[in-house]
Amino acid sequence: MGQDFIEKIKAAGIVGAGGAGFPTHVKLDAKAEYVLVNAAECEPLLRVDQILMAEETDKILKALELSVEHVGANQGVIAIKEKYTSAIDKLREKLTDYPKLSIYLLKNIYPAGDEHYIVNKVTGRIVPEGGIPLNVGCIVINVETLLNVYNAINDVPLTEKYMTITGAVRSPKTIKVPLGISVREAIELAGGTDLEEFRVIDGGPMMGKILNFIDSPVKKTSKGYIVLPKDHALIQSREKDINTQLKETKTSCCHCDLCTDVCPRYLLGHKLHPSKIMRVASYGSLGDKNATLDEVFLCCECGLCEEACIMNLQPWKVNIYFKGQLTKQGIKNSNRRTDLEVHPFLDIRGFPVKKLVYRLDLQDYDVDAPLTDVHKSFDEVNIPCKQHIGAPATAVVKDGDYVRKNDLIYSEDGKTMGVNMHASIDGIVKVNGNKITIMSEGRI
Ligand code: SF4
Ligand code: SF4
Repeated sequence: MGQDFIEKIKAAGIVGAGGAGFPTHVKLDAKAEYVLVNAAECEPLLRVDQILMAEETDKILKALELSVEHVGANQGVIAIKEKYTSAIDKLREKLTDYPKLSIYLLKNIYPAGDEHYIVNKVTGRIVPEGGIPLNVGCIVINVETLLNVYNAINDVPLTEKYMTITGAVRSPKTIKVPLGISVREAIELAGGTDLEEFRVIDGGPMMGKILNFIDSPVKKTSKGYIVLPKDHALIQSREKDINTQLKETKTSCCHCDLCTDVCPRYLLGHKLHPSKIMRVASYGSLGDKNATLDEVFLCCECGLCEEACIMNLQPWKVNIYFKGQLTKQGIKNSNRRTDLEVHPFLDIRGFPVKKLVYRLDLQDYDVDAPLTDVHKSFDEVNIPCKQHIGAPATAVVKDGDYVRKNDLIYSEDGKTMGVNMHASIDGIVKVNGNKITIMSEGRI
């Protein structure tokens, strides 16, 4: 398909569905030796990727084959956890038709979905400090993103999102919904909750963010919502403010190094030692002339250090605090080493997901969330102009215009890493600053 492949992805407004929202037409407009599919879905409770691998196998493999061809890669490898047996069976059945594609089985550990970990496991290479997989000839792409690439090459833009709605809801499920419905509506589609006081995590329990506002819209990067009681230990820990955390570090950190021992970036040879950063919070010193505070920029914020800590401390939160302090002073990451060596205990220290679920006290919520059709039309959607890394898009519609589903409403307009956006329902447009509201005719 040549450059037409990239143009179709750009026109369809595709961004990484895995969280960061990097524009896919930029990611795939490169040369690489490997295209790796991140099908690990290592965050507990989320189910989207494993379901899509089993349900949309042909489309995902076709999009992967085209991506491999476009970037000039020798191989496309699906890195999937060995426990997703129904998806693996489907893949194995179809892979005979795709000579350049294969699967790599990952252990059920957290964070098996860290792209640096996947690159190392599949290729034996190590992404350099401060680098990206492309530095070692790899492009890592998410499962749902590939499904969206398949739709794009068939001229279908990105207007819908697969999400797992789970936790303390009446009927946990995985659903496909129009972009721009509210979080509240998405939760209602899973039967709502009996809780009077609850919080919603946008994403997985380890790396997701607690939402301040449940009338905010479903975005291209949304992956799932986890409803939990307001007083659940996970919510209490995530909501703990940094000043309290710094005080607790001073009084409780026993400098045992366990957080460093499990840190996935340390185990991949990066110069990151969360326990030394905790010394700065405790004593104002790293206590090691070879360590530097800008190590914090190497932290991927996976949160595993907290789960390993015997004192229930949060090195990841302290890292984020110091990243902010350094950035305010104009200090950037100076760590750029490429001569890295994997720690001999990388495989031994993987944190089992089952143990993680118990550690997070989520065992009662670790249930199936089957893919379920949504038989409902929506009266209103709100679509922000920026749901991705890069420049905001420009509205190409005005108040009172009537749009149909899939019509272009925001244009990337040639901007750096800009992304198109399309109507997710039919209706009348209202442009409100940095978002567009579309109201169905029945609503007006
Ligand atoms: S933060 Fe926890 S795990 Fe890390 S050194 Fe301190 S007590 Fe040990
Ligand atoms: S969050 Fe903790 S475990 Fe994860 S990369 Fe950062 S320091 Fe390491």
